[in-house]
Amino acid sequence: MAHLLFKDVNKVYPNGYHAVHDFNMEIKDGEFICLVGDSGCGKSTTLRMIAGLEEITSGEFYIDGVLANQMSSRDRGIAMVFQSYALYPHLTVYENLGFGLTLEGIDADVIDEKVKQTAKILGLTDYLERFPRNLSGGQCQRVAVGRALIRKVKIFLMDEPLSNLDAKQRVTMRSEIKQIHRSVGATTIYVTHDQTEAMTMSDRIVVMKSGGYVQQIGTPYELYFYPRNIFVAGFIGEPPMNFIKSTVSGGKIKAGELELDLTPVVKDVKALEGKQVAFAFRPEAIKLSAPAKGSKAEGGYELESVVDLTELLGDMTNVYANVGNVNVILKVNPHHTPEMGSRFKFFVPYSAAYVFDCETELAVESDLKRH
Ligand code: ADP
Repeated sequence: MAHLLFKDVNKVYPNGYHAVHDFNMEIKDGEFICLVGDSGCGKSTTLRMIAGLEEITSGEFYIDGVLANQMSSRDRGIAMVFQSYALYPHLTVYENLGFGLTLEGIDADVIDEKVKQTAKILGLTDYLERFPRNLSGGQCQRVAVGRALIRKVKIFLMDEPLSNLDAKQRVTMRSEIKQIHRSVGATTIYVTHDQTEAMTMSDRIVVMKSGGYVQQIGTPYELYFYPRNIFVAGFIGEPPMNFIKSTVSGGKIKAGELELDLTPVVKDVKALEGKQVAFAFRPEAIKLSAPAKGSKAEGGYELESVVDLTELLGDMTNVYANVGNVNVILKVNPHHTPEMGSRFKFFVPYSAAYVFDCETELAVESDLKRH
């Protein structure tokens, strides 16, 4: 296990491209951290700086309190798993797992024990004599994880390790990697563009935006219920959060015929006067009946929409609808799916309503507890 500390870490590539801006973070021993964001936002660059494969342009990076900017990759106590499994095709699973240890000149007996132990953890015991070409994608990825695991490192680095797998295998491997992490305990930094992967696996998530800017660092719960800005609010959650943009007048916004009083949701509604804001709510947060009235946190907005399209998923129905000339997605119980073309009334509890300042993109301060 290892403790990592980043202080104003920046990466500027030799061609002048500034790929990571002022990365600041402390990672505790044994944490599972996901770096998430769209392609090109600097996730791999950050991972490669941790691995020592990419030079840190400015700032400081510490491993267990030791400045590691100039430390060689070998001395960092890391193992990396990539998207391409990078297995040796002419070696068996057994040989692939033991390869690194063989290179280090470790005794064959010790290697044998470690290979068998690792194969057991990963459910590969019955496949040890097979060659990679005779394995499924998921099994290959398990061997790749096993090669990293066998080395008993302090830090695990994974770069989109599941993107070559089909959807079902991804879900299985997701929980397997999580279980391995729980039993091994190495500090793990995991890069993905898939917010579901990040939400389900991480202790904490780092959301990055193109240009290499960190948007928010927090637990999955914090990011989902307390997004700092519009980007995080829209990135975390599937289908994404709905936004209705409008200018505040008299503490209210208008969208088409719709009028919404922001007073119950924001702390200081006067400060928003004349500003462009985004009123937001998650598709799954809506209610079909009015929330109990009473205290500030209990009531809600009543909205009316016109249903464009419905998609039955089984557990839920996605409803694509139009509210005050804005397209929204709502998730409803499939037994209460509205007819396409019909008018559909729904409620957004105050506790599930967000307001963002469109200029700063930041969440407007609210006293509401998101429950
Ligand atoms: P991600 O992993 O989030 O997809 P990367 O860290 O791979 O993003 O890349 C971040 C940005 O840095 C991208 O715009 C990419 O084109 C750029 N980049 C990556 N490697 C180099 C390089 N060697 N020289 C110049 N720019 C690079």
